[in-house]
Amino acid sequence: MKKLVDSYKRQIKYLRISVTDRCNLRCLYCMPAEGVKLAPPDSILRYEEILRVARLAVEYGVTSIRVTGGEPLVRKGIVDFIGELSGLRGLEDISITTNGVVLSEFAAPLKKAGLNRVNVSLDSLKKDRFAKVTRGDKLGAVLKGLDEAHAAGLRPVKINMVVIKGFNDDEIVDFARISINKPFHVRFIEYMPFNTEEGWDREKCISADEIRDIIAGELDLEPINERGAGAGPARRFKVKGGLGELGFISPVTQHFCGECNRLRLTADGKIRACLFSDTEVDLREALRNGSGDSVIKDLLFRSVMEKPAGHQINENIFKKCARTMSLIGG
Ligand code: SF4
Repeated sequence: MKKLVDSYKRQIKYLRISVTDRCNLRCLYCMPAEGVKLAPPDSILRYEEILRVARLAVEYGVTSIRVTGGEPLVRKGIVDFIGELSGLRGLEDISITTNGVVLSEFAAPLKKAGLNRVNVSLDSLKKDRFAKVTRGDKLGAVLKGLDEAHAAGLRPVKINMVVIKGFNDDEIVDFARISINKPFHVRFIEYMPFNTEEGWDREKCISADEIRDIIAGELDLEPINERGAGAGPARRFKVKGGLGELGFISPVTQHFCGECNRLRLTADGKIRACLFSDTEVDLREALRNGSGDSVIKDLLFRSVMEKPAGHQINENIFKKCARTMSLIGG
């Protein structure tokens, strides 16, 4: 069976699917206070349409699917959708990225439906600061969600912290300490340029190496060499004697575009071959005009062949994406 391989010989094995542009938070670096203009409901792909794209992608070599949003857990029927996804033969891994606000309610049913693991986006452990950055006072619910996800058997449970200088870099070591007593994987992600209200300031981006050095200045770190489940682009370490681990992700300072294996499906039915490229291939029309699987397949292959070598964040020609993060799904 032909595989999804791009013009740089990178095989696509990982599909990120955004199932909604809606969210129950209003994070500063993701969307404006009033939220983003939501797409008309009928422009959002129906679950059966998403499942058709997922089935074809798996037939052509995709083995891992991550469900994202907006906030995926606010979309009705998400548990049944995960159940349907887990029925796809050849799909080895299903994960979800959530803000964790309602995770404690969904963890056990999602696990039962076939979800393997979860990433929770969390950028502050300080109640007031969390409330400020998310425009929602839900820190307690998120922390409870993390424990419930672990109790439900989702593995690994990961925390994604986007480190922003002058905002939360004073919490780096506190986040690392979580991995001492909890079997969570705490991942530190460099601050990336997205289309936001206050814009991106390179000065606020702290490199993954600097973040690791800050932690190593206070805690005893040891590298983890083997490639764990869903390790992705993270460089992995653990605090000596700790239950969990740390991951350092450097899309800005040491990008991993050369090994990129991912495609994204947006909630409104576009295939996006690169996070930072606005080149998109529309699938929705073909999904709704009675086209056969071969047409959808050709559109998938076309998108893969248009996949750029990598992002241009560090080049003068770089321009921010037209879409906000909530309309891409990270
Ligand atoms: S920036 Fe684009 S090419 Fe690079 S890793 Fe991300 S999606 Fe892949």
